[in-house]
Amino acid sequence: MLPEAVMKKAQQEMLDWQGSGMSVMEMSHRGPEYTSIAKKAEADLRTLMAIPADYAVLFLQGGASSQFSMIPMNLLRGKTKADYFNTGAWSKKAIAEAKRYCDVNIVADSSDSRFTTIADQDTWQFSDDAAYVHYVANETIHGLEFADIPDTGDIPLVVDMSSTLLSRPVDVRRFDMIYAGAQKNIGPAGLCIVIIKRDLFGHTLPGTPAMFDYKIHADNGSMYNTPATYSWYLAGLVFEWLLDLGGLTAMAEINQRKAEKLYTAIDTSSFYHNPVDTRYRSWMNVPFTLANDKLDAQFLAGAAQAGLLTLKGHRDLGGMRASIYNAMPEEGVNALLDFMSTFENKHG
Ligand SMILES: *Cc1c(COP(=O)(O)O)cnc(C)c1O
Repeated sequence: MLPEAVMKKAQQEMLDWQGSGMSVMEMSHRGPEYTSIAKKAEADLRTLMAIPADYAVLFLQGGASSQFSMIPMNLLRGKTKADYFNTGAWSKKAIAEAKRYCDVNIVADSSDSRFTTIADQDTWQFSDDAAYVHYVANETIHGLEFADIPDTGDIPLVVDMSSTLLSRPVDVRRFDMIYAGAQKNIGPAGLCIVIIKRDLFGHTLPGTPAMFDYKIHADNGSMYNTPATYSWYLAGLVFEWLLDLGGLTAMAEINQRKAEKLYTAIDTSSFYHNPVDTRYRSWMNVPFTLANDKLDAQFLAGAAQAGLLTLKGHRDLGGMRASIYNAMPEEGVNALLDFMSTFENKHG
């Protein structure tokens, strides 16, 4: 979902952005109008997340998936090894991509639990010569989320926050790089946000394409080529919406309440089930199964009739998945709980 207020604002400005006589889609990305939109979006994101000045904020394309390659290309910096946590489907993809460029050491592996828990910290196996450590803060498909930020000492820490960025406050200083594809919790598809410490720049692997070099993007204000202008603009409207709401602390309170309600309903029912270790449950993605999976199709059809859409679980996992990102209002979760309880009374 996107916040309704944001869509309305975009609708209002669609044909004529603030008296400019142009739609944002029609502007030159180097013109004064678009420059002001882009700069304000970055400034608002810096305010929301309290991003320190020694971090660059990049508005890139190619999704989080391109980051899986850009990270080793830029951050190996002469080393030949990187440490990765394997906590789910997105970790696996990041690892497979990193293996093209370096040795990958797995710090902790959740595959034995079918990605329902994270190994205890005292079993983690870091290597001392790793160029960086990578993890996925929230595994979107499995609904498995780190409760704490791993402590990697002096080794740069890189995090994929595609499905959690802006869901709550985060201490940027704990990381050397944070990235997120925008389409989960920020704005429309087409944009990937990268927050990266500038002192990591300038050591790309030989042969790295210009488009894959963070320094080139930073030196050009994310306009080395034409950026995803409309997605960047809409992300900016979302940042304004979050600031108006009271920032990320206020957002976090709402998100926590939404998630707790849903997990409580699932855990107190014998009809619905969520397999994830209660310590590592996602605030954003709540997978659940029905006691009888033959009822899945009926559940989804009934939910759609009640206006509850895209509840089908990921194709790798089956069952259901409620993605309750920032823009999902609490009433949306309440409506889902009502539907689940009615369905259970009828079929449970
Ligand atoms: C969706 C997702 C990705 C992939 O994002 P794209 O923008 O489609 O490349 C990567 N990591 C996580 C955690 C995701 O949820």
